Amino acid sequence: MSQPAHAQRAHALLGASKADQWINCPPSARLQENIPDKRSEFADEGTAAHELSELILQRRLTPCNAAERRRLDKAIEKFKQTSSYYSPEMDDAVAAYVEVVEERFMAAKTRSSDAVILLEERLDFTEWVPDGYGTGDVVLISDGVLEVIDLKYGKGVPVSAIGNPQLRLYGLGAWSNWNYLYSIHEVSMTIVQPRLDSVSTDTLLLGELIEWAETTVKPAATLADAGDGEYKSGSHCRWCKVKGSCRARAEENMKALAYEFQDPALLSLDEVGSVLVVAEQLKAWAKDVEEYAFEQAKAGARISSWKLVEGRSNRAITDKAAARKALESAELEEDKYLKPQELLGITDLEKKIGKKELASLLEGLIIKPPGKPVLVPETDKRPELNSVDQDFAGEEFEV
Ligand code: SF4
Repeated sequence: MSQPAHAQRAHALLGASKADQWINCPPSARLQENIPDKRSEFADEGTAAHELSELILQRRLTPCNAAERRRLDKAIEKFKQTSSYYSPEMDDAVAAYVEVVEERFMAAKTRSSDAVILLEERLDFTEWVPDGYGTGDVVLISDGVLEVIDLKYGKGVPVSAIGNPQLRLYGLGAWSNWNYLYSIHEVSMTIVQPRLDSVSTDTLLLGELIEWAETTVKPAATLADAGDGEYKSGSHCRWCKVKGSCRARAEENMKALAYEFQDPALLSLDEVGSVLVVAEQLKAWAKDVEEYAFEQAKAGARISSWKLVEGRSNRAITDKAAARKALESAELEEDKYLKPQELLGITDLEKKIGKKELASLLEGLIIKPPGKPVLVPETDKRPELNSVDQDFAGEEFEV
């Protein structure tokens, strides 16, 4: 498969990757319909990682003759030589993903020797969603179990397979494509997010998945396709293209500000907890509104009570080589004008050298000290610290 194929994955009105949005807020789909996607470097990097992983999976897990193996080896080599996104870090992350796929495929083969693996499979869930197509990175079918596996290369936002509507739609699409040939009773959905060392799997009986499709997806898709239904804000607004100017989201957030406190002069700890929840929500919203207003102002729009000005800037040396020469010729000691050489941080070292290679080179030299206590929402996966057993005197709590 050529590189553009990954980049050109169609973005349908009711695409699987946006399902969380249009299921929870059906009219959001038509509202964003004519707003172009913003391509980001992160998205392009993810596309490149998918490209590389598909080539490696084809080479290792699909039947290919000697000529095809040579072609794939060349394609992998060419990718490594020419992709501006390729790095040892990508190599490690893709290897970790490929390892999970291999393990799952071996397990599928153990269940049944005629297990099937499909890569970059076009999945059709139009039975529930108008124009509902998606592309599954990996689909495995074996002994009545259908498994979809999805690579998430990003590391900014953790993504779990548990209750994930995108993966569920892929599962439905894969079942829809293949149920004429295989009797499937269970659908398993996995997300591998290698740069966060995360693998999560959700498994549903086929009946449960179809019930979800009929009772949740179909009605929401009908409303969304017609541009009907109610606007509803929530965590699904994160990737919405109108999140900075959406009235429903603004109204919901302004409602949160109208919280009525009880009488005593000091807030109770329960009230403090509620304020923190609202503060998090408002911070995220304020940032989105700021970004939206900035884009509008840059495009020439007038934002009431605000104006666009030149930001503060720092002085800069225009020609570093010439400046260095001038300082050298003044015969100053080097430490007066050169920075001492300094070791890169672990993240940069991993990026340049690769995670595994660095771990072996610096064996015993990397530690992970205990982190400072942080106050987080109780849904956070980390275990709770016991403030009675542990002395936090002098520690700061960040929120
Ligand atoms: S920002 Fe949220 S509430 Fe507004 S349209 Fe988008 S998804 Fe719906």
